[in-house]
Amino acid sequence: SLHLQVYSFQVFIYFIFYMIPLTMASHVVGYPRMGPKRELKFALESFWDGKNSADELQKVFADLRSSIWKQMAGAGIKYIPSNTFSYYDQVLDTTAMLGAVPPRYSWDGGEIGFDVYFSMARGNASVPAMEMTKWFDTNYHYIVPELGPHANFSYASHKAVQEYKEAKGLGVDTVPVLVGPVSYLLLSKPAKGVEKSFSLLSLIGKILPVYKEVVAELKAAGATWIQFDEPTLVKDLDAHQLQAFTHAYSELESSLSGLNILIETYFADVPVEAYKTLTSLKGVTGFGFDLVRGTKTLDLIKAGFPAGKYLFAGVIDGRNIWANDLASSLATLQTLEGIVGKDKVVVSTSCSLLHTAVDLVNETKLDEEIKSWLAFAAQKVVEVNALAKALSGHKDKEYFSSNAAAQASRKSSPRVTNEAVQKAAAALRGSDHRRGTNVSVRLDAQQKKLNLPILPTTTIGSFPQTMDLRRVRREYKAKKISEDDYVKAIKEEINKVVKLQEELDIDVLVHGEPERNDMVEYFGEQLSGFAFTVNGWVQSYGSRCVKPPIIYGDVSRPKAMTVFWSSMAQSMTKRPMKGMLTGPVTILNWSFVRNDQPRYETCYQIALAIKDEVEDLEKAGVTVIQIDEAALREGLPLRKSEQAFYLEWAVHSFRITNCGVQDTTQIHTHMCYSNFNDIIHSIINMDADVITIENSRSDEKLLSVFREGVKYGAGIGPGVYDIHSPRIPSTEEIADRINKMLAVLESNILWVNPDCGLKTRKYSEVKPALSNMVAAAKVLRAQL
Ligand code: GLN
Ligand code: ZN
Repeated sequence: SLHLQVYSFQVFIYFIFYMIPLTMASHVVGYPRMGPKRELKFALESFWDGKNSADELQKVFADLRSSIWKQMAGAGIKYIPSNTFSYYDQVLDTTAMLGAVPPRYSWDGGEIGFDVYFSMARGNASVPAMEMTKWFDTNYHYIVPELGPHANFSYASHKAVQEYKEAKGLGVDTVPVLVGPVSYLLLSKPAKGVEKSFSLLSLIGKILPVYKEVVAELKAAGATWIQFDEPTLVKDLDAHQLQAFTHAYSELESSLSGLNILIETYFADVPVEAYKTLTSLKGVTGFGFDLVRGTKTLDLIKAGFPAGKYLFAGVIDGRNIWANDLASSLATLQTLEGIVGKDKVVVSTSCSLLHTAVDLVNETKLDEEIKSWLAFAAQKVVEVNALAKALSGHKDKEYFSSNAAAQASRKSSPRVTNEAVQKAAAALRGSDHRRGTNVSVRLDAQQKKLNLPILPTTTIGSFPQTMDLRRVRREYKAKKISEDDYVKAIKEEINKVVKLQEELDIDVLVHGEPERNDMVEYFGEQLSGFAFTVNGWVQSYGSRCVKPPIIYGDVSRPKAMTVFWSSMAQSMTKRPMKGMLTGPVTILNWSFVRNDQPRYETCYQIALAIKDEVEDLEKAGVTVIQIDEAALREGLPLRKSEQAFYLEWAVHSFRITNCGVQDTTQIHTHMCYSNFNDIIHSIINMDADVITIENSRSDEKLLSVFREGVKYGAGIGPGVYDIHSPRIPSTEEIADRINKMLAVLESNILWVNPDCGLKTRKYSEVKPALSNMVAAAKVLRAQL
C-alpha cells in the first residue's frame, strides 16, 4: 500500500503540473459547502452548542475550502469559484460585506465576526433572527436583508478577498463570486416600519461604493476575473428594475476596467427584454446562462450575442443528480461555438452545484447500475472538464463511451419502464378528474356520518418523535429487533397518542405517524421507481440539510402502504381517525425527479399510486383521509407565464388521488405556508373537503383573501398556533384568533387546529397547547 500511496502521489503531481497548463475553458458556478459527510453541519452545531472553539470551527472551514479548490484544480477546471463557501448563507455574507446589519444586533461597526453574523442568522437570547426565505424555486433558504432609506453601508466583511488570497496561497487562482448589487437589492425587503413608497433599488448608489472597494481589493490581490451572480434577471422584471442593471454596471465600469467580469444568471432563461439589457451591460466580459432550465436561451443567443464576449454555457445540471448526456451536450456546445465563435464558449454548470448532492463516492448502498446513471457535484465537475476538453478537440473517448453506455442502459433498463403505468398515466393528461358532487353536498353527507360539533378540532398528523421511537425504527431497519417487537412498540405508541387525544377531547384524531421518519421517504420506500442515498444531502439552510429520494423509474405501488397502521388506529377509538398520506405533488417536489420525461408525467404516476392507497383506506373503513400537499407551492415556476400550466397539472394530480371516493368519505389536505393568496383559485380547485393551512404567523394576510370576497365553501382550518416555537399559547389568545377568523369565514366551515405537525415538539409543550386549543374551541362554541 505504500507503493500505491507513492503511485497516487505521483498521479497527483502529474495532475498539478501537467494538467493545469492544459486546462480548457471550464467553469463551475459554485460548489456545495456542506462537505461530503456534512462536516460543515457538525462543526457549526458543535460550535453553537459551545462544544467547539471558533478556532476549531475555522479549521474545519479552511479544510473544506481547500479540499474543494484542490478537487476542482485536480479535475482541470479553469475558472474555479471562491467565496461560494459560506458559514451560513451567501446573501447573509453579502449583508455582512456591506455592513447592512439591522440596528437590533447592536453591531459596533468593526469587521463582522461570528457573534454578529450568527446572531443575524439565528437570533440570540435577546433578539430574533432575520427572516429566511426560499432562494428562487430551490429548497435552499437565504437570509433576507432588511433595508430602509436611512441604511448606512460600509465595507465590513473582507471574506471575499480573504478567500481569494487563501486559495492563491494553496496555488489555486480562483474567480471570486459576489452576489450582484442589483439582485442583492431585489432580494431584500424593506425594514419594519419603512414607508410603503420606499424603493429598495433607490439604495443602489449607496451600496456601489462598497462594491467598488471590494473589487479594487480583489484586483490588488491578483484576481483577473470576478463573477457577479445576478439571478434575478430570470424573473419577470419591469423596465425600471432592468434599468437598475444598466445603471449599476455603468457606474461600476471604471472600477471593473482591467478585470474580466462574468455576469451569471441561473434557474431559467432570461426574458427577451432582460437579455437585451444583460448583453448590453458595460464593462462585462462574459455572460452565464442556465441551459438546462433555460429552454429558450439557445434561441436568444442565436438572435444575437455581443461580439468578442464569452458565453458561459451551463449545460451540466446543478439542480439534479443525473449524469449528463455528454454527446448531446457536446452537440449543443458545438452549435453555440458556431454562433459565438471558437474559444468564446466556456463549459459550465447550469447554476451553483449547491443544489445537488456532494459526492457519489460515498454511496455505499446504491447498486452499480443506478450509480452509473448518477453524477453528484464531484462527478459533475469532472463532466464539465471532459466536455471542455472534447470541445477543444481533446476528447477522452473512453470517458465518453462509458457515459454513452450508461445513458443507453438508463433508457432501456427494465427497472425504469413499466408499460402499464406509462399507459395509465398518459391517458390522464387533458382529461378531468373530479368527485361527482359538489363540496357542499358532500359536506352534508359527511356531517350526517361524522356528527361533528361546530368548530371541530383536529391536528395535522404527527405527534412528538421521542428518542425511543427513533431508536425503535432504527433497530428495526437494522434488523436488530423482530417485526413482532417493532409492531408491538409502534402499536403501543399509537395507542398512547389515541388515548391522549381522547382525554384532550379532540374531535378528529390522528395516529401520530410514529412509523415514519419522513413524510416523503416513508412512501418512497414502499413505491417502485424510487432509490435512496446514504449521503445525498443538500443544504436547506444554515446547518440543515435534506436527503431527497431519487425517482428513477415509473412509479407503482406494489401493495398497500398505510392501511395496516391506519385501520389499527381506527380500531382503537370510536372517534373518526384520519388516514394520513403524502400527496403526489409534494412527493415530486421533495425528490430528485427523473429528467427523461416531463415532470407532470411522473406526478401523474405518483397520483395513481396514491389513488389506490386512498381507495384501499376507504375500503378498510377509514372515512377521513388527509392527503398532505405541503410542498405544492414550492413547485411554482419562477415566471408567471409558466405558472398556470404547473398549477393545472399539480391540482389535477391531487384530484386524481381522491376522485373515486364516496361522498361520505371526507378528504382533507394540508399546506405548510400561509402565502397562498395568489393561488387561492387553484387551491379551491383542488376540491378537498377540508384544508388545514399554516397561518399563525400571518393572520391578516390569509384572511384578507376572504375579506376581499373570495367565495370559499369547503372546510378550512387556518392554524391557530405556531408549532415552530416551544411557546404555549393561552386559551384567550387562541380564542381571540378564532374570533378574528369568524369575522370573515362562516362558522360552519371553520376548523380548529395547530399550524402543522407536532413531531418536533415535546409532550410537555404539546399537551398544554392542545388542551388550551380545545378549551378555546369550546368557549366559542358556547357563544355561537
Ligand atoms: N402530516 C404531516 C405531519 O403532521 C404534515 C407535515 C408537513 O406538513 N410538513 O407531520
Ligand atoms: Zn405543514
